[in-house]
Amino acid sequence: MEALGLEKWIEIDVDAVINNLYQVQDRLGERQVKLIAVIKADAYGHGAVPVARCLSREGVEFFAVSFLEEALELRRAGIQSDILLLTPLISPHQFSAAIANHITVTVTSFLEYEMIDRITAETGHSLTMHLKTDTGLGRFGLNLDEILEICRLASRNAFIYIEGIYTHMAEAAFNPAYTHKQFRQFEEITAAISSRGFDIPCKHCANSAVVLNYPKMYLNAVRVGTLLSGQHPAGKFQTRLKLKDPFIFKTRIISLRNMEEGDYLGYNRTHRLKKPARIAVIPVGFEDGLALDVVNKPAGPVDMLKHVTKTVLRYFNADRFTITVKIRGREYPVRGKVFMQMALVELPPHLDIAVGEEVEVPVRKVLVPRNISRVYTQKQKLLPGGQEP
Ligand SMILES: *Cc1c(COP(=O)(O)O)cnc(C)c1O
Repeated sequence: MEALGLEKWIEIDVDAVINNLYQVQDRLGERQVKLIAVIKADAYGHGAVPVARCLSREGVEFFAVSFLEEALELRRAGIQSDILLLTPLISPHQFSAAIANHITVTVTSFLEYEMIDRITAETGHSLTMHLKTDTGLGRFGLNLDEILEICRLASRNAFIYIEGIYTHMAEAAFNPAYTHKQFRQFEEITAAISSRGFDIPCKHCANSAVVLNYPKMYLNAVRVGTLLSGQHPAGKFQTRLKLKDPFIFKTRIISLRNMEEGDYLGYNRTHRLKKPARIAVIPVGFEDGLALDVVNKPAGPVDMLKHVTKTVLRYFNADRFTITVKIRGREYPVRGKVFMQMALVELPPHLDIAVGEEVEVPVRKVLVPRNISRVYTQKQKLLPGGQEP
């Protein structure tokens, strides 16, 4: 990558993405289950367009993203497969754009349906939709009465095709009882719909955690993002796939200095050297997603205790909770407060190393700014004809 002259860049291993796809397909087995590849949030940081191209070449025909703008980006890049939006649209203008670009929408309220009904009837353009029902996540959803009313109205509008109905699991990685309860509720809803004579062909409720844990819940399609991105969802699973992380964030050392025992490092002097060291500066900071955590209300007392323990142990520089970077395959600790655009790494005082040495940095993939170059490699080679497959 030397030739590119970049300060920092992301290497994406296309073979790893394909490996993860094969692992998921293997898990789905011979059943007639459609794979909806979820590539929201820029394909979890890997680049939505190149990942979509790679998956399309491997036969994936259905994608999902959260927002209209994400779907339009895929269309502009020439992706012609089905694309499902996972969040509702809220204006006629947005629905018109979805119709013009053959994007499949999710309907989560009666208001949205009315807009669609009007626009399609007025323009004579057709739209494919999936209905969303809430079985316990508390985010979006129609109730059974609304679903039946929409089915009735849609059966009189030739321009509307209700292709699917789905729900989303709240706790599939941790709580089997709640997951089964959500699933039963979803089955009751879909059974009620067919008993009234309406046929919605594509029923789906499975995310990555469900794919790992509950084969009985695959139904007609699964919506998988996390597994394709090379990670197992948080939680304990009996089934583990052989996934590969396609993502490496790299930078180079821009400064090296020898420092003494007792010297301070960084703002607020949060770290003091216990022994002499070589201190390397890397041009990566919290603006790049380094040392950022998603702060949330803890899920329970145990979770809270974990957070507190981690914070305390970090304060005392416990090895396991120190952020480390990798140089020539070895780990070295990041010291002091991470700066906005830089960080300090403690190296042994006599390490034979020079400015310009490559460093692998553990950043939060989805928090990395999109203007950082991604370099796509396949079979260890830089792909010809530019940086993307
Ligand atoms: C993000 C998302 C998924 C994918 O979930 P993973 O656990 O990442 O596989 C599926 N469905 C919906 C509605 C989502 O928002």
